[in-house]
Amino acid sequence: MRHTVSTTQSFVDLAELVRAALEDAFQKLGLERFRARQVFRWIHHQGVTSFDLMTDLSQQLRATLAASCRISTPTIAQRQLSSDGTEKFLLQLADGRQIESVFIPDTPSMTFCLSTQVGCAMACRFCLTGKMGLVRNLTAGEIVGQVRVLAGALDMRHTRFNIVLMGMGEPLHNYDETIKALRILADDQGMAVSPRRVTLSTVGVLPALERLASEPRMPNLAISLHAPTDAIRGQLVPINKKYGVSDIIEACKRFPLKRRSRITFEYVLLAGINDSPDDARRLARLLSGVKSKINLIPLNAAPGIPFERPSDEVVDWFARILADHHLTVSVRKSRGRDIRAACGQLIVEGQNKSAGQQLATLAFGD
Ligand code: SAH
Repeated sequence: MRHTVSTTQSFVDLAELVRAALEDAFQKLGLERFRARQVFRWIHHQGVTSFDLMTDLSQQLRATLAASCRISTPTIAQRQLSSDGTEKFLLQLADGRQIESVFIPDTPSMTFCLSTQVGCAMACRFCLTGKMGLVRNLTAGEIVGQVRVLAGALDMRHTRFNIVLMGMGEPLHNYDETIKALRILADDQGMAVSPRRVTLSTVGVLPALERLASEPRMPNLAISLHAPTDAIRGQLVPINKKYGVSDIIEACKRFPLKRRSRITFEYVLLAGINDSPDDARRLARLLSGVKSKINLIPLNAAPGIPFERPSDEVVDWFARILADHHLTVSVRKSRGRDIRAACGQLIVEGQNKSAGQQLATLAFGD
């Protein structure tokens, strides 16, 4: 069984629609187009998902909407608060799948870290989500829904926040739904989160990165680089065999950046693998001529991850070498480690295979 049960199959899910599409849907239902704007505001600005509560619509319109539409919204299965204020939400989707979203306060701004897929196909060797494999893509409504739910639960509907697409999944492996989600989020009748306050983090799916370069409104870009050479990166990030380090750097050089903006390069530091002074110098050489800033992320170690975190001293040295080469470098303070909400630690157990896959495994083996 997929997303819907048969009795709701003909219902239009308004949570999935950009405003123009919502207007079209209203027209098709024989409703006035301008009413769609009101409903869009209720859903995305006010966070109201029950037609009953949409008090500026007539009783009759509310009844019509309730009979023909729904507004799918993830539900909170679990909340975990870290000692540093980071809060991890386990969210349940309409089909029973679960994802994690994280609220990170005071960085110095407020940040929501969102998932774009259930699991991830990229299988980076130091990432726990990668171990799950890909279960399915999230829909645009499910990506936006994470923001609606977190903003509601944290009473932040009218607070400014940033968004990072750094939760479960590879956003550029779910391109269309991710871009559609950013459009819904940016709408000034809804949450009005400008793409300038969104950072999309990618392992470097190059054809999709080229598509992103042609979008009219672009988020900030972060590239998960993690190594200065193909020899090292190839061992860590399987997709590097397809899109290698120099291809990525060339694509970044072509990427149309606004004045004064830069691409963030994320670099997970793994003891004895990619943390030598030579690696730092090679990285500096690689990034010379790229409008870049580097974000070093000392590994968040976990059982099942075959790497270790370097000492603080090694991290400092690595950062120092980059800074000496006139690169902008920051070291990511790990947040929410006590509740496993930190980078690469998002994983939902027991759903890494769909029911169909589980049956197939039983019948045919892996
Ligand atoms: N798929 C996207 C976004 C998700 S991960 C990407 O690869 O960019 C967000 C960041 O956390 C990535 O840079 C990722 O490489 C990093 N990360 C993954 N596992 C980690 C771990 N165990 N410790 C520290 N950072 C990790």
